[in-house]
Amino acid sequence: MAYIEDHSANGTFVNGERLEKGRKCPLTHNAEIALSLPHNKVFVFSDLMEDSLQSEYPKELRDKYIISKTLGRGACGEVKLAFDRSTYHKVAIKIINKRRFAADVLPDNDKPFNEKTEVEILKKVDHPCLIKIKDFFEGEDFYIVLELMKGGELFDRVLRPARLSEATCKLYFYQMLLAVQYLHKHGIIHRDLKLENVLLSSPEETCLIKITDFGQSKILGETSLMKTLCGTPDYLAPEVQDGTAGYGRSVDCWSLGVILFMCLSGYPPFSDKNKNTRLSLKEQISRGDYFYCAERWKHVSKEAFDLVQKLLTVDPDKRLKLEAALEHPWLQDEGMKRTFRQLLAQAQAPLPAPEAPPPPPGGRKRRRAREEAEGPRPQPCKAPRAPPPS
Ligand code: ADP
Repeated sequence: MAYIEDHSANGTFVNGERLEKGRKCPLTHNAEIALSLPHNKVFVFSDLMEDSLQSEYPKELRDKYIISKTLGRGACGEVKLAFDRSTYHKVAIKIINKRRFAADVLPDNDKPFNEKTEVEILKKVDHPCLIKIKDFFEGEDFYIVLELMKGGELFDRVLRPARLSEATCKLYFYQMLLAVQYLHKHGIIHRDLKLENVLLSSPEETCLIKITDFGQSKILGETSLMKTLCGTPDYLAPEVQDGTAGYGRSVDCWSLGVILFMCLSGYPPFSDKNKNTRLSLKEQISRGDYFYCAERWKHVSKEAFDLVQKLLTVDPDKRLKLEAALEHPWLQDEGMKRTFRQLLAQAQAPLPAPEAPPPPPGGRKRRRAREEAEGPRPQPCKAPRAPPPS
């Protein structure tokens, strides 16, 4: 039994709870240990016996990652926190429940997923505003190893009572445009852009955003993605829901229009819960008949609303293209672009080397005397490497 006991002056926390002095607390698998403050997490206790029992995951995945707690649940399955066994860096592993898709989804005419080529393409995607796909495994389910994001979803910030300021919306939207432009240049159409797929790098308001789930249409097959769980109808372009045309890059521009509308106003442009219209959600979208609430738009600039309108153009040929959106007057804002460049530089700067603690006063003799009185100083601790699962 491994246990923890608090000998500190400032307190030790296990899973957010402060330890009582003098009481031994048994550690359980994935316990998070914080020092001084409950959010100041420093260690995770990983019970390697438990870990090797995680046989539900493919062996290759377990050989490379220690799988830990659940970070969130989505329409496609669960997302887990995990640690890279060689570096102990944290990652997120998205588990896509294959059986759920296979049952009624994967249609015959869906191109079979060619793991080698598709995943290699996705792994090469490298943009500061796109979640990095680090690895991919296929077993009973699909496992996508992703860069970990710490700020949650944009969705949760948009629907808060305290709305995002227009300046913040601009900073986020500019990054979304750059990210989608990069994807399109590399031949990838996202097809499932929505607020839930925009993750934030930190809990601060001024932060980098990263778009996720751009590989899912490749991995699940396009038809299955659009028709089912992950393709949220609220963001679908008219030409996709009507099935009138093969869909191209402009579907992403429509979804970006819906996202910007929601960021600026705090409500969705098209909704089947809207009591102000008799039109069904499908009709609202195919007519581009968004609900306009004057109260919510009264503080938003005309330029911002103009950009929304140009993106929510029903005819895909007339809809604003990404390049034109980036040239739109609303986004010609040097201050915002400077902030973005600063955030980028901070994110890309190497972590500062830990500062050496100042030498204790009094030289070696006094130090030895103090150590004798206090016991040995703690040494930097390296977690043991897990034995390869048998
Ligand atoms: P789905 O596409 O199946 O609906 P999501 O991708 O939205 O699932 O993920 C579900 C939840 O998992 C999200 O709400 C988020 O909290 C968490 N999550 C997803 N990806 C990451 C990530 N890269 N880093 C941290 N948390 C993530």
